[in-house]
Parts: sequence; structure tokens; C-alpha cells
Amino acid sequence: MDEIITRLKKVRRGAMFIIEAPSGTGKSAVVKEILRCDPNIKFSVSVTTRKPREGEVDGKDYYFIDDAQYNEYLKQDAFYEYVDSQYGSRYGTLRSEVDSFINVGEDVLFDMDWAGARQMKAKAKDDVVTIYLLPPSIKELRSRLENRGTDSKETIEKRMNLTAEKLKHWNEFDYVLVNVNLEDTIKKVQRIISGERMKRVRQTGLQSFVDELLEEAKHD
Ligand code: ADP
Repeated sequence: MDEIITRLKKVRRGAMFIIEAPSGTGKSAVVKEILRCDPNIKFSVSVTTRKPREGEVDGKDYYFIDDAQYNEYLKQDAFYEYVDSQYGSRYGTLRSEVDSFINVGEDVLFDMDWAGARQMKAKAKDDVVTIYLLPPSIKELRSRLENRGTDSKETIEKRMNLTAEKLKHWNEFDYVLVNVNLEDTIKKVQRIISGERMKRVRQTGLQSFVDELLEEAKHD
């Protein structure tokens, strides 16, 4: 039986899961738990032209590259999505990085905004599954940001001011959840992931498996 399970895993095509939410909703908490519980899902590491912050590791937090390399990637159409701000830092998701997982049946998780999700959908189509988390209320959103204790008052105001603009894009996503209870939300996201894995289009090796079943049935 184990042998069959290993074989079926190998013949699967991975999916790209994008989770988006207004800041403070609980996106990072959900992403962290999904990655911790499921070794078959990898976090996508982006490239950036900004300098590493203290403690950031090249290849783990980002691939830190220079402008020349970034321009080269742009020229080669090497990105699934990118944010190319000429004045600020530039970011991108390399096709090669993502495909190396997808092609061997491993899923990839992205922490990405609606604009990135839109680009990903346009380029990677059915490989992409998008999930939007809504806060239960704006009051609760503010209190989560305050209780998190990572941002100054000023930053919290900035984040809150961006909330309405972010919320407007909720209806571009495949799945929408209200993050009332964190544990419930994590379970729901895990169910979405396992459902998506069973889709026929992702089980690319099933035809040969069924062919073998048919062959076996002939001699039964
Ligand atoms: P985001 O990544 O969306 O900005 P975080 O994951 O940092 O948000 O969550 C913001 C804060 O809210 C964190 O302190 C987190 O532990 C907490 N949190 C997340 N989900 C819930 C929830 N369902 N109920 C209460 N607090 C939550």
C-alpha cells in the first residue's frame, strides 16, 4: 500500500495557494500553521532588490538580487508576478522557483496581495487557488493589530486606512472565509487544500494508474 501512496504522490501536479487579507486579519498566523502542519506545502521565496534587514537570510526570507539581475529576469519573462517600482524596492516571484515544486507534486503557498494574485491567475491559471480572509469586524481588526504589539500607533493608522481599499477586492478570490476563530479558520483552509489536491486536473498521473487497474481487471 505504501508503495502505491508514494507513486500517486509523484504523479500529482502541485497547486499554488494564495492567501490574502487586510492587515491584522490573521493571514500570517494561518500561513505559519499551515506550513508547520504540512510538509507537502512549501512557502514561495520571492526575489527583491531591497537590502536584507537584520536577521534575514538569503534564500529563506528572499533572494536578494541587484537591479541588473532583476532587469534580466524581466527581459526573460521569468516572473509569474512582480511589483516593479522604479523608485522603491522591486519584488518578484520566479516561475522557475515555483515550477520546481509544482512539477513534482508539491504545493506552494504565497503570502501575496490582490494585485499579485491577479497576475498569478492570469499566468498560471488553473494551477492557482486563491483564498481571502475577512475580519469579523473593523473594530476587531483594529484590536488585533493593537494586541499584536508589533506596530506603532502611526503604522496601525496607516494599515487601517488601507483596509477599505483591500476589502474591495474580496470578490476576485475563489474562497472567502471570515476569520472569527483562528483554529477553525486553519481547519477550513486545510480542508480547501485537501479538496483542491483531489481535483482530477491535478492528478496528472491517474490515467496510467487507471490503465493498470483496467489491465489487472482483465486478468481478475
Ligand atoms: P496579518 O498577517 O493578517 O496582518 P496576523 O496573522 O499577524 O495578521 O494576526 C494579527 C493578530 O491577530 C495576531 O496577534 C494574531 O495572533 C491574532 N489573530 C489572528 N487570528 C485571530 C482570531 N481568529 N482571533 C483572534 N486573534 C487572532
